[in-house]
Amino acid sequence: MEKHFFSDIVVPIEPDNVSIRRDWSKCIQCGMCKNVCSHLMHVSDQYTLQETNDEAVCINCGQCSVVCPTGAIHVVSEVDFVKNALADDEKIVTFSMSPAVRVSIGEAFGIESGTNLEKKIITLLKNMGVDYVFDTTFGADLTIMEEASELVDRIKNGGVLPQFTSCCPAWVKYVETFYPSMIDHLSTTKSPIGMQGAVIKLFFSKVKQIDPTRLVNVALVPCTAKKMEIRREELRSAGKELGIPTMRDMDYAISVRELVEWIKEMGIDFAQLPDSEFDDVLGKGSASGVIFGNSGGVMEAALRTAHYLLTGKNIDDQLLELSAIRGLGKRKKTSFVIGDTTINVAVVYTTRNADELLKDIISGKENNLHFVEVMACPGGCIGGAGQPKENVDDELRQKRIGGLYHDDKIMKVKFSHENPDIKRCYQEYFGKPLSKLSKKILHTTYRDRSGILGQKDKNSTISTEQDTVWVCPVCGYEHHGAQPPMQCPLCGIPGKEFRKK
Ligand code: SF4
Ligand code: SF4
Ligand code: SF4
Repeated sequence: MEKHFFSDIVVPIEPDNVSIRRDWSKCIQCGMCKNVCSHLMHVSDQYTLQETNDEAVCINCGQCSVVCPTGAIHVVSEVDFVKNALADDEKIVTFSMSPAVRVSIGEAFGIESGTNLEKKIITLLKNMGVDYVFDTTFGADLTIMEEASELVDRIKNGGVLPQFTSCCPAWVKYVETFYPSMIDHLSTTKSPIGMQGAVIKLFFSKVKQIDPTRLVNVALVPCTAKKMEIRREELRSAGKELGIPTMRDMDYAISVRELVEWIKEMGIDFAQLPDSEFDDVLGKGSASGVIFGNSGGVMEAALRTAHYLLTGKNIDDQLLELSAIRGLGKRKKTSFVIGDTTINVAVVYTTRNADELLKDIISGKENNLHFVEVMACPGGCIGGAGQPKENVDDELRQKRIGGLYHDDKIMKVKFSHENPDIKRCYQEYFGKPLSKLSKKILHTTYRDRSGILGQKDKNSTISTEQDTVWVCPVCGYEHHGAQPPMQCPLCGIPGKEFRKK
């Protein structure tokens, strides 16, 4: 018997999908989910159930749940697990708040979108019994330290370019499923939440002398894909380090929508809550960590730190706002000159737009990029499927974006490398970015998931130039690919000097 019904109209969803589920009794077969999954995310139009042996392919972005008019597709709730942990005196519960959460939650309580409500959220969580509330902008700063160092290393040492950001798990899964031949382009740096969980269980527990097995880490996110990401085997670094390999670094991920329901269930007047501050050790991040929630924010934050790494100086004030890669644009591009190095960058959101860029990179149409940021959701995480979903349009997304850039403007610590908590974490624990321990705990690996499609790496045949051999005219080094390398890894000559064999 077929597992999935009406799959020409509705998206197939596996019953064990950790991000979204469907209640068939509410489905009116309107086709909206299929439409968004095909056109915006470019997933369900890339396979048939015959090809996949009746397995649904999903990158867990949750965008189908945003457009579902009846609530038939809903976010899988983890609230009950968190409630149980809060009720257990043996457990120490931490919450880590993603940047985009603070500027959207107000919408559910009649507060202007874009208003930063982080201090009310902290009070709310503390009143609920949460022991420590951290800002995931700390994890974002740590991600920037590693990712910017990785980019500089790839550029200087002839590594695979362009480097793709890897903090969006839906995008990572898209590459693993549809473009496994491009996996080497993904930064090995873990996402902010991937790092935050491991650092709480290893570093924070050490500083506070807490038994890490008592810690229950909860990520408060704008996202549904994070529920999938935290369950990846690769994100059990603390457990592996401590000899408890089944222990997850981040235990649960709850979305803004789940928290809003919980607040309403408790009858709390959210708007009237007083302000509180984040807890220390992994407290506040820098302004660079805050803008992570916007499309272009990861790129801008990484370039700020890459500038420091390459020149030993911070960028001039007028370069602090890279307007070319801010806002809502289909493919945003710019070049950033750092000393004698020019870094060409591109920023896209939605996996449909990312797919078009990937095809252009593979075919050689886009042949001089060093760094590419991809976020699966419209406008980046501010448009995540875990956010309040009422009246979401570009005007509302702009307000959320504006809220995070406003914070960037007024915050004193602008750079990840100047965050005192980050400096302490490196001094007392990791040593330096890309150290042996950093690579072990803060970096990750990816896997080829294309087997589900019934045909390995369908997209590798886009360009007939895939296997072109490029030869360095100075040392004879041979490079295989659609385009020459940025520079020869052996003698350093610029890639534009390479000749086709
Ligand atoms: S969007 Fe919702 S109601 Fe419409 S077909 Fe999909 S599941 Fe059914
Ligand atoms: S979560 Fe995303 S990929 Fe999965 S079915 Fe929904 S829209 Fe498609
Ligand atoms: S863009 Fe952000 S919210 Fe959307 S799937 Fe990626 S990480 Fe999650």
